[in-house]
Amino acid sequence: DTTGSAVRAQALGKRYRAKWALRDCSFELPAGKVAALVGANGAGKTTLMSVLAGLLPADEGSAGTSGRVAFVSQEKPVYRHFTAAEMLRLGARLNVVWDADRAERWLERFEVPLDRACGKLSGGQQAQVAFALAVGARPDVLMLDEPLANLDPLARREVTAELLAEVAETGMTVLLSTHVVAELGGVADHLLLLAHGRLLAGGDLDELLTRHVSYAGPA
Ligand code: ATP
Repeated sequence: DTTGSAVRAQALGKRYRAKWALRDCSFELPAGKVAALVGANGAGKTTLMSVLAGLLPADEGSAGTSGRVAFVSQEKPVYRHFTAAEMLRLGARLNVVWDADRAERWLERFEVPLDRACGKLSGGQQAQVAFALAVGARPDVLMLDEPLANLDPLARREVTAELLAEVAETGMTVLLSTHVVAELGGVADHLLLLAHGRLLAGGDLDELLTRHVSYAGPA
């Protein structure tokens, strides 16, 4: 039963040959929230998102999501010989649900030239094309692997503000990963802390902070 939760993992595990990259991960993400998946390089963030998105099979346990999932990998998947406009046309052809206005609005917002080959765009602009394709698909769950890395601080604030606006408008759930906590800048209300493939902490951010950080000690 996933009532009220958009993403659910139960004793989830994934290994590459003999090496476990993810072990015994259990959590639920509430619908309509932004959750941050935080962990050092190699902690297993990409692996977890890939399993949740259904791109990799789990080796133990189970995972479930409510509705349709969009996943933006770290590789910023755009075709270098396609223009941004052509990428959007591809999005329209490949997605069951496609909100062209929403995708175009994202590109306008970030001033991405529509008629230039993606290979000639900056890394940041290529990322915006990938984000536009993802929001255009109107997913119920949007997973973004390290979306804020390589963005300058202004672009980072603008992207997080746009994501929050999308969440408020569409009620989608966002899971974004980072290895730099400072990047988050108050965008997430839920936290998953991953280390060596294991979940160290997970839950509502305020609750976690109250429980683990603000505790003043015995009266
Ligand atoms: P990063 O931010 O550096 O991508 P991450 O937190 O996303 O790190 P993963 O990429 O999920 O971590 O990797 C988790 C572990 O699994 C690492 O030890 C990594 O070397 C290993 N790993 C990841 N992909 C593979 C693969 N295809 N084959 C073998 N080992 C892998």
